[in-house]
Amino acid sequence: MSLHDKTLKQLRDGLQQGEFSSRELTQHFLSRIASHDSALNAFITVTAEQALAQADAADKARAENSAGVLGGIPIAHKDIFCTQGVRTSCASKMLDNFISPYDATVVTRLKQAGVVTLGKTNMDEFAMGSSNETSFYGPVKNPWDTQRVPGGSSGGSAAAVAARLAPAATGTDTGGSIRQPAALCGITGLKPTYGIVSRWGMIAFASSLDQAGPMARTAEDCALLLQSMVGPDEKDSTCLNRKVDDYLSGLNKDIAGLTIGLPEEFFPKDLDGRIAESTQAAVRELEKQGAKVVSISLPSVKLSVPAYYVIAPAEASSNLSRFDGVRFGYRCKDPVDLMDLYKRSRSEGFGEEVKRRILVGTYALSHGYYDAYYLKAQKVRRLIRDDFARAFEKVDVIAGPTSPELAFNLGAKKDDPVTMYMADVFTIAVNLAGLPALSMPAGFIEGLPVGVQLIGNYFREDQLLNVAHRYQQATDWHQQSPVFGGDK
Ligand code: GLN
Repeated sequence: MSLHDKTLKQLRDGLQQGEFSSRELTQHFLSRIASHDSALNAFITVTAEQALAQADAADKARAENSAGVLGGIPIAHKDIFCTQGVRTSCASKMLDNFISPYDATVVTRLKQAGVVTLGKTNMDEFAMGSSNETSFYGPVKNPWDTQRVPGGSSGGSAAAVAARLAPAATGTDTGGSIRQPAALCGITGLKPTYGIVSRWGMIAFASSLDQAGPMARTAEDCALLLQSMVGPDEKDSTCLNRKVDDYLSGLNKDIAGLTIGLPEEFFPKDLDGRIAESTQAAVRELEKQGAKVVSISLPSVKLSVPAYYVIAPAEASSNLSRFDGVRFGYRCKDPVDLMDLYKRSRSEGFGEEVKRRILVGTYALSHGYYDAYYLKAQKVRRLIRDDFARAFEKVDVIAGPTSPELAFNLGAKKDDPVTMYMADVFTIAVNLAGLPALSMPAGFIEGLPVGVQLIGNYFREDQLLNVAHRYQQATDWHQQSPVFGGDK
């Protein structure tokens, strides 16, 4: 088996047993990126030199018996995480020249675990999008069909993992940005409970919704990565001060007796029948392993997209006010006065979708509209949270489709923001409620991957990963790899 076909777990074991060195492994992935990324555009920055130096350090640590739990494993970071000394662009012209002076907590934690950073992955600008087409650096292509989108906003991470350019990557999920691209690219991605992963050094989009998580081929690999990402952080006041759970030891637990809820709202009449069927088939597999399936209802979930598109832009308009052309980032040429500097730096530095969100958000928060929009949306948010709380009194896990459709053609929705917003119709409610959820590969339709979403109760990442791992022991969807750009 070539190195790039191995899972993170297999790579970890191989490194531990001395089958190969971190330098060999890192060089292997860097060569793959060099030969194949031009077909995908999954990376914004490749940090080859730094990666090899980190690999050598990991090999040295291993020889001295001081290697971290993920010592020597190369991964990629979404370009939303600040990385010291390396450009951190958030896929925006605004930050095209930004070299971060520090590492995000997630990056620090993973470094402490010994990972090597291959580079920074492409994404939608400031994580706003569902297709990776809003990036200043151009769209990412789906490795299963390069005419199609990889999903967004963590599309570069998803495409890189699916194409075996990296064994795993980090992503962020504000309304579906880990799960939806994971589904469209045929990999596994987990959005953790809000507050278990520090947001410090992760460029903010909508602070009450943003959460970082792992993207990898298997649930087991996501567990390995998550284990090194979580934990309290005094630098982020919304990061919870609670003990770190164990995501690894329960992966293989029997799921007999587990109750899975299927919300009727996740199977609307106009849902693509083939996607509904793939979801049902995955649930049947879990039933075969002893899980019980019940029908449930989450009546307020239908309001999640409109509530999200008030709350997320409102928070974004506030978070993005710091990009003013003065402190850091893009500055327009020859401003005539301060007002001109602000106006032109922001008009020229931000892309169209980002500006649309800032306008919507500023409007929703303005005097006279705050009560009508923002406050209303917050009330809806509470109703959605209550729906889930009621459901979790009866069920352990909720299942449904991750995305209402397969990977669509590049350009197909680019000029229709509202249709694009519907790509997250099944993922957004989870962020509004702060719950954990994952997407796992559950089949193919016309050669394109389909994902199934599993939603858990607060802090039950262990249970989600357990169910997904059991499913992956019985299926091989997650082992399929795409053929693209001449690769086999
Ligand atoms: N597609 C959604 C949006 O554009 C979610 C993005 C995300 O999760 N970062 O806001």
